[in-house]
Amino acid sequence: MLYVDGKWVEAGVAAVDPEDRGYNFGDGVYEVIRIYKGKLFQWDAHIERMERSAKEIQMKMPWSAQELLDIAKQLMDKNGITAQDDATLYMQVSRGNSPRVHDIPGDVKPVLMGFARKKDRPLADQKKGLKAALIEDIRWLRCDIKSISLLGAVMVKQYAKDTGAQDAILHRDGIVTECSAANLFAIKNGELYTHPANNLILKGITRDVVIELAAKNGLTVHEKPFDTKFLLQADELFLTSTTAEVMPVISVDGQAIADGQVGSVTQKLQTLFEQHIEEAVLV
Ligand code: PMP
Repeated sequence: MLYVDGKWVEAGVAAVDPEDRGYNFGDGVYEVIRIYKGKLFQWDAHIERMERSAKEIQMKMPWSAQELLDIAKQLMDKNGITAQDDATLYMQVSRGNSPRVHDIPGDVKPVLMGFARKKDRPLADQKKGLKAALIEDIRWLRCDIKSISLLGAVMVKQYAKDTGAQDAILHRDGIVTECSAANLFAIKNGELYTHPANNLILKGITRDVVIELAAKNGLTVHEKPFDTKFLLQADELFLTSTTAEVMPVISVDGQAIADGQVGSVTQKLQTLFEQHIEEAVLV
């Protein structure tokens, strides 16, 4: 069961207006939110980020955080997500339906769509790590907006898959930005490095949690750009996202990172993240 523009509809029969601006232009924003044991993780941070993304594209969100939470809870109920289940919630706001012109029509009404589905945590991959390919960041210059225009991400992920890798690490003129749908961290001499949260990356919520956990536990975090040479000479690499959590990256373009095993700092952060999930107050 999906939520589409105020109605509850079965998957497969939901209709999109051919002139929905999300459909025509990718004119909209979205969030993917983790559900652990039937409860929402980092709900406030996701809603704040969604509101920020909407503001950056000059879109007014007509729903309060409480209204969005009611819809999220109903999506879980209607899709049989219980206290036993890990799952994900997708929420998207398109700018709405209007005769097709590029500039923003004055009277357009945003369209909210959401779905929730069971999704296990990727625990096996977290133990073994992923292989990545290094690929030019061909995306736009407002990666800080969680836009539904994702063609750049689709293409770089597919380039990575075509080389036999599981994900893409992106660089702009040799400076490492992030992955196709995750943030990237390098570890050198026990310290963490990640691209600063500016217009070239999405400020990931998992990234923020990891930075906070690292700092609280005495690890130094540098939010500053690093290049591909530093990347390949790192002691450890890992990526972070809502669905991947803390995911080791063990090789880049077929070259092992250090000894090609999941490193000890990454493992420590995985443990801290695990504890955080158990202790955090989820809604
Ligand atoms: N960067 C990009 C480009 C992403 O698409 C995502 C996931 N949506 C992230 C980073 C990670 O963000 P989060 O931890 O909030 O899922």
